[in-house]
Amino acid sequence: MTFHAQINGYANPARHAEGLYIGGTWRKGGGIAVMDPSTGEKLAEVADASVEDAMHAVDAAHAAAAAWRATPARQRSEILRRWFQLMTQHAEELATLIALENGKALPDARGEVAYAAEFFRWYAEEATRIPGEYRHTPSGSHHIIVDHEPIGIAVLITPWNFPAAMATRKIGPALAAGCTVILKPASETPLTAYAMARLGEEAGVPAGVVNVLTTSNPGAVTNAMLADPRVRKLSFTGSTGVGRTLLAEASKSVVSCSMELGGNAPFIVFDDADLEAALDGAMIAKMRNAGEACTAANRFYVQAGIHDAFVAGLTARMAALAIGPGYDPATQCGPMITTNAVRKIDRLVTDAIASGARATTGGKPLSENGYFYPPTVLENVPADAAIAREEIFGPVAPVYKFVTEDEAVKLANDTEYGLAAYVYTQDLKRAMKVGKRLETGMLGINRGLMSDPAAPFGGVKQSGLGREGGVTGILEFMEAKYYAVDY
Ligand code: NAP
Repeated sequence: MTFHAQINGYANPARHAEGLYIGGTWRKGGGIAVMDPSTGEKLAEVADASVEDAMHAVDAAHAAAAAWRATPARQRSEILRRWFQLMTQHAEELATLIALENGKALPDARGEVAYAAEFFRWYAEEATRIPGEYRHTPSGSHHIIVDHEPIGIAVLITPWNFPAAMATRKIGPALAAGCTVILKPASETPLTAYAMARLGEEAGVPAGVVNVLTTSNPGAVTNAMLADPRVRKLSFTGSTGVGRTLLAEASKSVVSCSMELGGNAPFIVFDDADLEAALDGAMIAKMRNAGEACTAANRFYVQAGIHDAFVAGLTARMAALAIGPGYDPATQCGPMITTNAVRKIDRLVTDAIASGARATTGGKPLSENGYFYPPTVLENVPADAAIAREEIFGPVAPVYKFVTEDEAVKLANDTEYGLAAYVYTQDLKRAMKVGKRLETGMLGINRGLMSDPAAPFGGVKQSGLGREGGVTGILEFMEAKYYAVDY
């Protein structure tokens, strides 16, 4: 029996090709093919929303808004909590579905489902703890009361690399805050979003509170929604290029924007680092999702004294990874999302090698079916190579040698991005000192994984605006209202 024949329950792609999810009903349609990146074959076809469909989704979100806003926080919390439980109950099916449409290895897919579900649990808790403020003015003139109100209808746009977690990281706080939403998932991975909508329905999310639409025309569809005065929030996760376009579009109607954009994370290893721990961390920071993560270590800066041992250790670990379809339980490195993604990686690696870098393992795309690129380590990479400036988004680890702390900090900051960074040293004082100088929204110290629903996730510079998760994440979906009170 082939793997595909064993798929059932929520893992079955055909089950999520029922159409757009608007106002609690499924509107039949087709037009967008969803591919299996492991084989290049079609998995299913989902509906292609028009601008008119998108406006129906805004109508549905608007119709549901007043009742949802008025729903007691405890009740909203319990719906989110049930959604968390249902995701947990169906975790293996969801992980299989993610592995099918995204290609990531099953352990990564299982990790994503657990992480994604946690946003519902976390925001189920936060829903009942929305903060307010009471102060006296310094002059004694009056009293200040600050309330937080739901911002209004939110448009949520998500990428393909974490099809479940990027959606729950937005839906969780939005629903907890009292907002209704329209989710537009990436065209490559819409099945997970529709599967989650079904689970939401089961959890008791009222019709119209969460709407999901897929479209082959994201620009026109999003622009129309942003131009509607009922839409007050855009929460986007994706590339910096598309983020810039959306910020310009949102400015026309002054829509509040949260932006989680691209990264170019430096991974700095000092001579005094624990080598084995640094290698373990490097493998996680580089190879989670086969390198297709915004927080992926994109540039390894390794001090001269530990450089050769680090390159040898990383090469051995990368060369040992099993490559294959994400849903094969033996796979550790799945395919890339598209052939275009493989082409981009190939261009960056070829350019680096032409500029003097050497591949100690990998270095060329694999010629099998599917969109595979092998785990690759590059040494002797020039600091100004294109691969140092662009997001690789693949299983390639370029290593650069440095001598002084100042040099490492200067190289690490030499990018328009500022999402994540990693530092390995056994001297915590040095780590904190270097951390202060790094232009980054998040820093892993002797740790290759930082994502956690309880922590504020986000970047500085052109990596984004605002934070998701943590205790402040809910405020991205709220407006402060100030009451000046005399009594
Ligand atoms: P992308 O090309 O920017 O697409 C992201 C989403 O935007 C997709 O749903 C896409 O729809 C949609 N989109 C594209 N053009 C649009 C437009 N003109 N108007 C409205 N929506 C539009 O990014 P991606 O390739 O999917 O994801 C990879 C990028 O996301 C990387 O740069 C990565 O670093 C970043 N990322 C950041 C974070 C973070 O938290 N900072 C997390 C994950 C990923 P279609 O699929 O239909 O084109």
